[in-house]
Amino acid sequence: MSTADTTPLWLPDSDLVGSDLADDDRAFARRIRAFAEAKLAPHARAIDEQRAFRRAMVDELAAEGILGGPLPTAAGGAGWSPLRLAIAHEELGAVCGNARGFCAVQTGLVTQCLFKNGDDAQRARWLGPLMRGAAIGCFGLTEPEAGSDVASLQTRAERHRDGGWVLRGQKHWITNGGVADVMLLFATVDPALGGKGITAFLVELPAAGVTRTPMPGVELGHRGSDHAVITIDGLRVGDDAVVGPIGKGFGIALNGLAAGRLSVAAGAVGIHRAALAAAVAFTTGRQQFGQPLAKFQMVQERLADMLTELCASRALVHRCARRRADGSETHADVAMAKLYATEAAARATEQAVMLHGARGYSSEFPVERLWRDIQALRIYEGTSMIQRTILARMLADG
Ligand SMILES: Cc1cc2nc3c(=O)[nH]c(=O)nc-3n(C[C@H](O)[C@H](O)[C@H](O)COP(=O)(O)OP(=O)(O)OC[C@H]3O[C@@H](n4cnc5c(N)ncnc54)[C@H](O)[C@@H]3O)c2cc1C
Repeated sequence: MSTADTTPLWLPDSDLVGSDLADDDRAFARRIRAFAEAKLAPHARAIDEQRAFRRAMVDELAAEGILGGPLPTAAGGAGWSPLRLAIAHEELGAVCGNARGFCAVQTGLVTQCLFKNGDDAQRARWLGPLMRGAAIGCFGLTEPEAGSDVASLQTRAERHRDGGWVLRGQKHWITNGGVADVMLLFATVDPALGGKGITAFLVELPAAGVTRTPMPGVELGHRGSDHAVITIDGLRVGDDAVVGPIGKGFGIALNGLAAGRLSVAAGAVGIHRAALAAAVAFTTGRQQFGQPLAKFQMVQERLADMLTELCASRALVHRCARRRADGSETHADVAMAKLYATEAAARATEQAVMLHGARGYSSEFPVERLWRDIQALRIYEGTSMIQRTILARMLADG
């Protein structure tokens, strides 16, 4: 009987069913998979059980070129196409939700937002260290009273009489928050302006006036990630900390999140694939009533549905990536990809737990971790309900 350490997290040779990758993209997928298998898989279970952020993982991701992957080569990145980004995040997601989540924040939200919106000095100071893994970034948007309704955030940025800004407020659920060297922080210069008052600031950490504490409670999944409450009380920053124009931070945040949703959707495809692979391995090995579980039609029905939804998810994710590459992507494309891929993966992980019987209920096998990890992908970077509101608004507005 397989255990979590030996259960395959991919489907031999049929794992790319439903994708129509060119040979070089397929080779790229195999390279990232080999990296994930060698460097991430040996720690995926332990960091979850120990609730430990593994700093060495950052160096390994950087050494493989993953942290600079999506940035143009002129900026020191690897110039990945959006499709390659999706491929990489599927491979990382299949093996370690913590590593994929780290990359989504470090590269998807912080590095890319900074590349698109930062000035020359901000880019020169931070892009290199972020891509080399010498610095860790975090994205400080969510507040205790402002989650889905981002425009209602209350963290204040006030002009100081001697110049620069004074910041006050609280952020929570900030991935990498406790270990970050730099935070992209969203604050309002005037709450009465709603979204039009929101401004982005770049804050080097640690800093006087910033207190970081772990999130209270124990997370359901992503337990090898760092999630922090960040309290800001009288933090002084200069005018050179402002990213983009004053009052344009809402657009920077929303565009960053919309771009980042592709990695979340791709990560969900990876989790889905791993759940299916584990379910196939288990049900073909375990015998009950004199035959392998996979010979029973009710089990076959579940495996067939998981495979079909996996291919549909991946097709939506790759379609979105290709539209991003040719400039025709809309917010609806990525909303559909994230909504469908995360919800389908949630269904798949639930079936995988069920198909393992009592073994699915134990951390000895990987499926309970996959089930726990996928829940967060349905919540962050816009919940499934918020994706539906984006799509419904698009339908109503024509
Ligand atoms: C593991 C993890 C990592 C995270 N990392 C970060 C990070 O790095 N940086 C950061 O800034 N944030 C981060 N977050 C926070 C995340 O972005 C928010 O949790 C998310 O936006 C939802 O906000 P909320 O939790 O306040 O829920 P709420 O907005 O209070 O929503 C609660 C429920 O109400 C529903 N709801 C809300 N509005 C509507 C509506 N208009 N229509 C229908 N239903 C609605 C939601 O779908 C949800 O089901 C992280 C969260 C998690 C779980």
